[in-house]
Amino acid sequence: MEGRGPTQIGSLLENERVPNPTTHQGKPSDYPYKWDISTVVHILERREYTGCTVNFKTHRNSIWDKKKRQTPEEDQAVFYNTQPAIVAEDVFEKVQQIRQQRHRQTKTGKSSMFSGLVFCADCGAKMYYCTSVKFDKRRDFFVCSTHRHRKDQCSAHYIRSVVLEDIVLRHIQMVISYAANHEAHFRAVMGQKLKLASDEAIRVSKKKLAKAEKRLNELDRIFMRLYEDRVNGTISDERFAFMSKSYEDEQTKLKQEVDALAKEIAQQEQATDDVDRFIAQAHKYVGLEELTPYALHELVKAIYIEAPDESSGKRRQNIHISYDFVGFIPIHELMQEGMA
Ligand SMILES: [Zn+2]
Repeated sequence: MEGRGPTQIGSLLENERVPNPTTHQGKPSDYPYKWDISTVVHILERREYTGCTVNFKTHRNSIWDKKKRQTPEEDQAVFYNTQPAIVAEDVFEKVQQIRQQRHRQTKTGKSSMFSGLVFCADCGAKMYYCTSVKFDKRRDFFVCSTHRHRKDQCSAHYIRSVVLEDIVLRHIQMVISYAANHEAHFRAVMGQKLKLASDEAIRVSKKKLAKAEKRLNELDRIFMRLYEDRVNGTISDERFAFMSKSYEDEQTKLKQEVDALAKEIAQQEQATDDVDRFIAQAHKYVGLEELTPYALHELVKAIYIEAPDESSGKRRQNIHISYDFVGFIPIHELMQEGMA
């Protein structure tokens, strides 16, 4: 959550002389404080620390199968709250998200807490963190990766990281203070906004689901006819094999889609608690003076940078912050309405 990778976490543990699991279990070791990257990764990805029990993580194809095989996550059984949690569920999910974003290692080895969070508002591409050893920190910047590769595809979206940090911190402070001090108004407005968005998303997903289910039914009928044709000898075995294979592929894909959509709908339907979860976060960060990587990762999902507007002679640049749980927060509107 503080933006360190497994290697950095490993050396940190070593420096702080934290015994590794082997040593912890009382087994002798020449390097009691040396942490394998794989051990760190395993701990980061272990859902049990959130207080649940995960069963059927591995399976064997038969009792003679010597090899333990990884069960796909959707087929594992998770039993929640079976033991005290040492990692909060939200933190665990966030860490998995962060681990999925590939971090671009700069040549200098310097990194930014914003890496992986910043996107170009026009083309949607990730913005690259650029730095050099000679540069002092004030000159580090982010630039649209599309523009970096092909100048004609997107204009020079560029922002210095100190400027970004300053804007983001001020926005977070405003949002937190508003959400914590005007809870009722914040909940009403954001709840309404999320409900509209999730109603729309549910409507779209349900439509897709109905379409996929209809096609699955159609495929069942097509299969029946295909078998009849084969029995009657109206089609060749080759033709039958070819057609049934392509319909089977379509069927498999559709079934996966139906499963994914059903999950999506279930998730969208519980979106209403999200405003309350955000308000709880806001209370936790009231009085935040300095932006830490932990706070940033916990509060912010993504940041979109617009192209600078220099038409007034002064450089003006808009950025949009998508917060965790609730997305974009129209803070200036909220504050105006709150005053009225
Ligand atoms: Zn761009």
